[in-house]
Amino acid sequence: MFNLILFGPPGSGKGTQSERLIEKYGLIHLSTGNLLREEIQNQTTLGLAAKRYMDQGQLVPDEVVIGMIRSALDSNPKAKGFLFDGFPRTVAQADALDTLLKEKNTEIAAVLALTVSEKELIERLLNRGKTSGRTDDTNESIIQARIAEYENKTAAVARYYETFGKVIRVHGEGSIDDIFDLLCKEIDLKKVA
Ligand code: AMP
Repeated sequence: MFNLILFGPPGSGKGTQSERLIEKYGLIHLSTGNLLREEIQNQTTLGLAAKRYMDQGQLVPDEVVIGMIRSALDSNPKAKGFLFDGFPRTVAQADALDTLLKEKNTEIAAVLALTVSEKELIERLLNRGKTSGRTDDTNESIIQARIAEYENKTAAVARYYETFGKVIRVHGEGSIDDIFDLLCKEIDLKKVA
């Protein structure tokens, strides 16, 4: 299996690039944000509980997202690999992911970290809010809260994977095509390594 994490702050382009990467490399896309929004849509107990956090721009508790990832891994036993998007967002989630993958005799090949300035992130998210239907994209104070959660809890995930030499930083500003090419170059180097 070939597993990647697409890492970066909210608005860094993880969702957009994931759509293209899964198609090119035949990976299964696991976005915890998308999975949570599906739960909300279906009005499940999990979804209703998660919505309270998401509406405030706060992270959903670790147990909830780890449970979702565990069942997604279990329900795709034949996968060539997974692309994790928006997960892990805490060191506890990263630890849990490593354990889950180890149980399946696999691991993370690389963490591709998109870097984008804070000014550009806010502009992109407010812009996306005009069409995404996401309430957490329309309000600047919620966007700020999401970026603060990223800095306080999620940035440490990159440091965690850095200790294993797995982080590859990719400049996430520019055209979608150019950024996609940069990501593919890095992935292809990992695949032959
Ligand atoms: P995203 O679509 O990745 O921007 O996620 C939207 C929201 O879902 C976040 O602001 C969090 O409230 C929640 N969320 C998504 N993924 C996670 C995760 N791995 N851990 C905790 N909360 C998450």
